[in-house]
Amino acid sequence: MDKDGKCHFAGLFRATLKTAHKILVEKDRQRAFGLYSMTTAIYTHADCRRHEMGSWHPESPARLQAIEDQLIASRIDAFLDYRQAPEASIDALARVHTSAAIALVRDNTPQSLQSDGGDHFACDEALHAGYYPIDGDTSLNAWSWRAARRAAGAAVAATDAVIAGELANAFCAVRPPGHHARPSEPMGFCLFNNVAIAARHALEVHGLQRVAIVDFDVHHGNGTEEAFIDEPRVLMVSFFQHPFYPYTGAQSLSRIAPNSVNVPVPAHSGGDVVRKLVLEQWMPALEAHRPEMIFISAGFDAHREDDLGQMGLVEADYAWITRQVMDVADKFSRGRIVSCLEGGYNLSALGRSVVAHVRTLADLG
Ligand SMILES: [Zn+2]
Repeated sequence: MDKDGKCHFAGLFRATLKTAHKILVEKDRQRAFGLYSMTTAIYTHADCRRHEMGSWHPESPARLQAIEDQLIASRIDAFLDYRQAPEASIDALARVHTSAAIALVRDNTPQSLQSDGGDHFACDEALHAGYYPIDGDTSLNAWSWRAARRAAGAAVAATDAVIAGELANAFCAVRPPGHHARPSEPMGFCLFNNVAIAARHALEVHGLQRVAIVDFDVHHGNGTEEAFIDEPRVLMVSFFQHPFYPYTGAQSLSRIAPNSVNVPVPAHSGGDVVRKLVLEQWMPALEAHRPEMIFISAGFDAHREDDLGQMGLVEADYAWITRQVMDVADKFSRGRIVSCLEGGYNLSALGRSVVAHVRTLADLG
């Protein structure tokens, strides 16, 4: 309050409203002239917050809350189309995963809530009844089967809507993440490979001839690479800290070329290193591939505040990378992009980085 008793926050609030109103007016003007006819969607579902692997685990439900909070605090939520993620069909999962891998998640999800059938917690005791361990980092709770199908289903539904022309592009705020999930087994916090499932859906159901997968998570997307190792219709471009979990990628580069440009970078690399490799190594490959659609494995754990990686990216780097990918999509793919959350464990940095990514996808300046 100032000496006249006026609250400074009221002024700030009015200024905020004014800015939001200006953006809305501009969007309306663009729509009227046919310059802005589509929007960016956020696909998510409450089930994705019910899967959890222990209160100590960094891949936590709080990640989605942090993203939602920052989308609201940044005021860009008003311009986004929020959609509920459906459950992926078994057929969709089976385009990437073996029946044994699907059964592993389905049959070992603790049964205490399986018969509930509703969208609400049955009871706290049931939720904490137990976990089924898959590896040292990955386990199932009673909601994991549903959450994993929602996460994959978000990517598939977003692909359908973007290809149908309902949306310009989409970001799937989902968990569990996917890019470590191998066709034959879950691993590394991941149950099903959401991006790979969506890319296969685009190829097999929609008949696209060429797609690209961009992965900017700090970890190598070993599951995605394995899923498309013999698939020339899919180009994968990524960078990843090396040597680092899952200790794959660099040694297999010669074997998987030419449909993979996965670039190992040393710990402590910053945005300058990443921007250079994007321009010099990703872009020529993407231009040559001429993808009809682009999928993004959007991990934000290469952020300098994220303790699960030792790289030095900041929000501006994520916005810049997103813009480069959009330029390729505008040129070859009618702008079609579906982005799925992977890593990102510092809650504040994650929320801010997703805002930078989505603000760019939605062309909100
Ligand atoms: Zn990661």
